[in-house]
Amino acid sequence: MSSIEEIDTDETYISDVINSKKNDDIDDIITATTIAQKKMENSIFEKLSSTENGYLIEKKKILNFLSNGIERIPMSHQSLDSSKVWISFWILNGMDMLDSLDSYPSISSRTSKYLSILQNDDNSSNSRDNNQGGGGFGGGNSHTSHVVSTFAAVSALYVIGTEESYKTIDRESMYIFLMRMKTKEGAFTSEDGGEYDSRTTYCAIAVASMLNILTPELVRGVADFLLSCQTYEGGFGAYPFNEAHGGYTFCSVAALSILNCLHKIDMNSLHRWITFRQSNDGGFEGRTNKLVDTCYSYWQGAVYIIIQSYFNYYKKQEEEGNGKDQQQEGLLFNQSKLQEYVIRFCQQSDKKYSGFSDHPSRGKDYYHTCYGLSGISLSQYNEIGKTIQSLNTFTNTFEQPSPPLTKNSANTFIISNNNNNNNNNNNNNNNNNNNNNNNNNNNNNNNNNNNNNNNNNNNNNNNKEQLVEPVHPIYNIKLSKCEKGLKYFYSLNSINSK
Ligand SMILES: [Zn+2]
Repeated sequence: MSSIEEIDTDETYISDVINSKKNDDIDDIITATTIAQKKMENSIFEKLSSTENGYLIEKKKILNFLSNGIERIPMSHQSLDSSKVWISFWILNGMDMLDSLDSYPSISSRTSKYLSILQNDDNSSNSRDNNQGGGGFGGGNSHTSHVVSTFAAVSALYVIGTEESYKTIDRESMYIFLMRMKTKEGAFTSEDGGEYDSRTTYCAIAVASMLNILTPELVRGVADFLLSCQTYEGGFGAYPFNEAHGGYTFCSVAALSILNCLHKIDMNSLHRWITFRQSNDGGFEGRTNKLVDTCYSYWQGAVYIIIQSYFNYYKKQEEEGNGKDQQQEGLLFNQSKLQEYVIRFCQQSDKKYSGFSDHPSRGKDYYHTCYGLSGISLSQYNEIGKTIQSLNTFTNTFEQPSPPLTKNSANTFIISNNNNNNNNNNNNNNNNNNNNNNNNNNNNNNNNNNNNNNNNNNNNNNNKEQLVEPVHPIYNIKLSKCEKGLKYFYSLNSINSK
């Protein structure tokens, strides 16, 4: 996500943009966003004409960047002291998506020990009047419990995936905390006396789901609140009558998927809204007429997968009953262009380190590195909607729905070295679904012609190395870690009587 301070409003640049308007290059109305968009497109064209930026994920350098970050927060990140749990998650999950976390056992163990001191005791006896802040995790040392920090901490401990990390979580105390955060509207507040929205509600529901404490008492009324956040545009806002936004849309749709309420969404409206969020650059924008941004590769990308899963599975019986052909599986966005945006335009490398930025020509950070890799993963594993039934059998307190999952597929998508063919060799299953995007991409393909020769040599031998691990679209954790964690918390059934 971008802030207004990041937008360059240099006067010379503005006059250049206004002059270019005479050539009908941009919309009639000049805004800070259209100017920033133009500048970003220019950065992309520069990268397209450069021989330096190929399609290779610089795994070694990314691991250098991430593993170095767990040792100390760099000066540029020290204002994020209260988000140390998030930084832990971004780094650990990035390393895990590159299938390398297990090579750093000391990092996992130390992080697990650190996170263990951030969960507060709950001594409030489930009373809203007693603001002890207990039960959940704080964002940093001695911080009171916060639902969003709790989600990050539980996710990080799931990613670590060891007995030591699982035992860190006190589920009894967590359940009391989450119940105390619940509002009469069916949402969850961020902390005692804090704000509530679809983001905090997703975090609470996702934590309860991961820890197998998703009781009927906890979820009562939650779906109605989330459904009320869908806007006239089709996406979801933070709360009712807010603007549709990619982050809040993910939170609402993912939580409704956990609650098995996807069928209550105005799905056609949501589908229409999100279809227009992929730009010609290949990246996703978070809101209508906003800049694309690497982090939405996950926030929006996961929603595409959940929608596709809904179409493929929740409608399957109806189609079979009517004698219709089943819909073809595949993703609803252009996977090739998304990966190109993240890897080719937003990968920022120097001699030793590499990572992803939000926009081209910007600095890398842990947040966008994590969510860039997540978006790449969602693009690379396209046999979706194949419910992994075993996940359901791990739960017994509440009948959990079947989360839509990406699955390691024989048709794994990788970026081809031949853009002129729209990656047909590797991507047959997806082309039919990408028709809407192909027209938009013609211009980009022409621009890529000059670069194909430069990349041929690199890509032939490195395609397999460019794969990242498949992640769960709802929890954004490697599938194998999801299964391991759900199995472990199934075995701890002391909360079943709730
Ligand atoms: Zn972002």
